[in-house]
Amino acid sequence: MTPEEFRRYGKQVIDWIADYQQGIESYPVQARVRPGEVLAGLPEHPPERGEGFEGILADLDRVIMPGVTHWQHPGFFAYFPANASGPAILGDLLSAGLGVQGMLWATGPACTELETRVADWLAELLDLPGRFRGNGVIQDSASSACLVAILAALHRAGGGEAAREGITRRHTLYISSQTHSSLEKAARIAGIGSAGVRVVDVDPRTLAMDPAHLDALLSEDRAAGMLPVMVCATVGTTSTTAVDPVAAIGEVCRRHGVWLHVDAAYAGVAAVCPEMRWINDGLDGHADSYATDPHKWLLTNFDCSLLWTADRAPMIGALSILPEYLRNQATSSGEVIDYRDWQIPLGRRFRALKLWSVIRWYGAEGLREHIRTGVRLARDLASWIGADPGFELLDHHPFGLVCFRPRWEGLDDGEADEATLRLMERLNASGDLYLTHTKVGGRVLLRMAIGAPATGDRHVRAAWDRIREETDKGPAW
Ligand code: PLP
Repeated sequence: MTPEEFRRYGKQVIDWIADYQQGIESYPVQARVRPGEVLAGLPEHPPERGEGFEGILADLDRVIMPGVTHWQHPGFFAYFPANASGPAILGDLLSAGLGVQGMLWATGPACTELETRVADWLAELLDLPGRFRGNGVIQDSASSACLVAILAALHRAGGGEAAREGITRRHTLYISSQTHSSLEKAARIAGIGSAGVRVVDVDPRTLAMDPAHLDALLSEDRAAGMLPVMVCATVGTTSTTAVDPVAAIGEVCRRHGVWLHVDAAYAGVAAVCPEMRWINDGLDGHADSYATDPHKWLLTNFDCSLLWTADRAPMIGALSILPEYLRNQATSSGEVIDYRDWQIPLGRRFRALKLWSVIRWYGAEGLREHIRTGVRLARDLASWIGADPGFELLDHHPFGLVCFRPRWEGLDDGEADEATLRLMERLNASGDLYLTHTKVGGRVLLRMAIGAPATGDRHVRAAWDRIREETDKGPAW
């Protein structure tokens, strides 16, 4: 493709995206294809001869779009949001346009130094403790961030033994029943295994980790000859946005000399708002690492997950191997950061460009406005649900997520769960909105996560009206 052709088709692609954004409400939120339908619409064999870009755009509309679930639709309330925004898309396009692979400072000085700067900007915007400054890195996901944290914690706990010898004794990781599954996955990858994952009790009301039980488990495991590696506290759990008591957990970790990772993948970015900074309570005590995802609720296209460590040395000790073909003067000088040593893969994209674009375009003010809109809409929704005697509301909804369920009169618990799941399926099949569910205390709750940039008052109101209308039809099997 010549630069002239690129210019022509590039303009078409930008127009296509702008049209998509403008018309997004005309699509059903969730794709309606059957499994295999998209695959069947694609040629079995690759073309021998190159094709024009018009054909690609035509097939995008014809074959791909019917199979797209519209995460940016204002009626998307499933899982957690995965925000896209104009400045992030353009920042990502610039990254692709430059085609930089910034594994080393030497292969991408600007890629490296912009990343250091925007990680510091975000730490400042979130008012994170000073010891995280200069120690931030952009990962592809919070899952990678926790794996890196575990490897660093393993390195510190065993004095580098894990990197040299592998795992030679029973190591343990401490989570709660509410912790994201990526922690157990990371434990498996790191060689701790699922058997080494200890599940700390939660308060049955708040679903927050019990620091006293954590303390007891740590003492028990040490006495049994195990090596506790890391505790993961969560700020904003995936199921219900429960918040673990980080300060108390940090104190336990300090006494036992165990690494504390704080997973704030979804909720952490809310701290751009001073009134939400309570979520940082305890971070200035003992947190060794902290992760949050601008790609969820902070207007930055997937993928962009920030990891900060209080001390980068154990992470670099765990992950740095310097083969001859990567040696260079800047690395040897010790004056630069080589972010390849702060992540699992070697290669890395220029992700900082999109976060830089987002922070500069919106400013702190615009970012706060976005978070506040989500919090306000969730509060409005919760007030309507709370005022409706036909529904039960989970009282805890400090962010954008609201959990609730209809009170199905005359049904036992199992039937009520089934009726709630069927209700969700009908709502999702309508194309008007997309919800997911969770289980709390063994009972099914609907989750409505507000936070797509296009979602406003009228969308939340319309979704609530649809939910009530569909519920009024009664349980349908
Ligand atoms: N941690 C929490 C609390 C989450 O809610 C999620 C995803 O929803 C993750 C980790 C994993 O995020 P990622 O997709 O960035 O790996």
